[in-house]
Amino acid sequence: MEIKSVGIVGAGQMGNGIAHVFSLAGFDVILNDISQESLDNSLALIDVNLTRQVSREKISAEERSGALARIKTTLNLPDIAQTDLVIEAATERESVKTAIFEDLLPHLKPTTILTSNTSSISITRLASRTDRPEKFMGFHFMNPVPIMQLVELIRGIATDEETFKTCLGVVEKLGKTSASAEDFPGFIVNRILMPMINEAVYTLYEGVGSVASIDSSMKLGANHPMGPLELADFIGLDTCLAIMNVLHDGLADTKYRPCPLLTKYVEAGWLGRKTERGFYDYRGETPVPTR
Ligand code: NAD
Repeated sequence: MEIKSVGIVGAGQMGNGIAHVFSLAGFDVILNDISQESLDNSLALIDVNLTRQVSREKISAEERSGALARIKTTLNLPDIAQTDLVIEAATERESVKTAIFEDLLPHLKPTTILTSNTSSISITRLASRTDRPEKFMGFHFMNPVPIMQLVELIRGIATDEETFKTCLGVVEKLGKTSASAEDFPGFIVNRILMPMINEAVYTLYEGVGSVASIDSSMKLGANHPMGPLELADFIGLDTCLAIMNVLHDGLADTKYRPCPLLTKYVEAGWLGRKTERGFYDYRGETPVPTR
């Protein structure tokens, strides 16, 4: 099946990046949100990011204007129902996502593929609440979407081969690389990345190293471009904790227990870059370790 048009639900951090890459790759995009402010901010941010790509000579001015012209926005969810592919990228709460699919179903054309960008909710369970579990998949982009090369494609238990192959083709058309993952908590990237970050927090908690020594150890000793604590601040400590809880609950293994120090930072509201304080304090000119 050829995909020409894409409906994206949720115009937050991920939704705007997803709209950016799809419109740049030539797909017609309709972006939906319940907040006009999110839609307006999203379009403005896409413009800023495309303009930066033009100034860095990554794309031409015509590609920028073509991409912007292909994006429409709407507050009315049924407006996206005639698209070929829906990517749900709304708030990470299961009740929000199931309500979106339930509201969309009566208007949806029979061939539309439904996908979710969820980081942690079971694709099989979301699919089971729709009329087309065989045409339902996880389409998991990494943040920031225009920069990160990987897309994890997650098959639910009922996903058929045609749906999977169609989504593979879409990832190729975006110029990105896919990794296929089975539908278990954390999929691949978060299953491996989050326990590493959690272990870095344990290393700090037990006094084995300081924030600075842990990050420089992993940068210089394991060739990671960012230290694990710096990366945790970038992702958001609340997000890291939520994903550790999903791994802990979903896999029922104590090796995934979240570090109490991670919980304490989240309780303090020190969530990383977005609150200007996490394992580093970002309020001054250069980040200063908080431990
Ligand atoms: P966000 O909070 O930045 O944006 C969520 C958007 O969804 C908001 O604009 C909100 O108004 C909108 N929304 C809420 N309810 C809605 C509804 N009923 N209909 C339409 N829009 C609605 O969140 P985000 O970081 O962009 O995350 C979105 C999804 O992407 C989540 O499932 C998350 O797990 C996943 N994800 C996030 C990251 C990340 O690093 N942030 C990475 C990969 C995947």
